Amino acid sequence: MSNTENSNKKDRNQRHKRAMRRKKEHVDSRIAEATIDKGLLVVLTGNGKGKSSSAFGMLARSVGHGLRCGVVQFIKGLWECGEQMLFEDHALVEFHVMKTGFTWETQDREKDIVAAEITWGKALALLSNDNIDVVILDEITYMLTYGYLDKTKVLKALSERPAHQHVVVTGRNASKELIELADTVSEVADTKHAFNAGIKVQKGIDY
Ligand code: ATP
Ligand code: MG
Repeated sequence: MSNTENSNKKDRNQRHKRAMRRKKEHVDSRIAEATIDKGLLVVLTGNGKGKSSSAFGMLARSVGHGLRCGVVQFIKGLWECGEQMLFEDHALVEFHVMKTGFTWETQDREKDIVAAEITWGKALALLSNDNIDVVILDEITYMLTYGYLDKTKVLKALSERPAHQHVVVTGRNASKELIELADTVSEVADTKHAFNAGIKVQKGIDY
């Protein structure tokens, strides 16, 4: 390496070190300012893939830490989900599934509403239970957009849950009110999905 190349490399390394020192000061001060400890409402919405799998990622983290968790899946496809097989018999997880399948499969609004109400009962019990640390309400937004569950009732239960309890809600078209109530909201964008190229659902990736 020539002398010039060597000195350029040294300069670049020093600039990097200075920039990282400034970044660390900034990050450390932001971390020091975040002192509130509370149960979070996390909403994962949008048309892209990654909402339920993110929620179950948080479930895995929570179980890893020994937290007591509850899962309520408001829609269940025809295939057996890996997350259900992994967690449904776990000592730390209470797992409930609506079991009716997608609404375009049942094609029966009355039956869907009855099932949604029964399943909501399980969710409400978890949201009223001080001993539950984390609740996953998977695909619940569809129950609200189809009008199967009363929006006010759901928002009330979410607001009145135990202060330490984290709740993760998934599903497309999260309402304005739900987004307002939430602490963290991610909208997953549908940039590209394999299904649109004719690729069928893949075990482990899609279910
Ligand atoms: P995942 O469970 O994979 O995180 P998701 O919860 O974000 O997906 P859902 O709408 O609940 O999305 O979809 C469930 C199934 O539909 C999954 O198999 C997923 O791969 C697939 N899927 C999700 N988004 C899309 C999309 N934009 N186009 C086609 N299929 C999709
Ligand atoms: Mg989903």
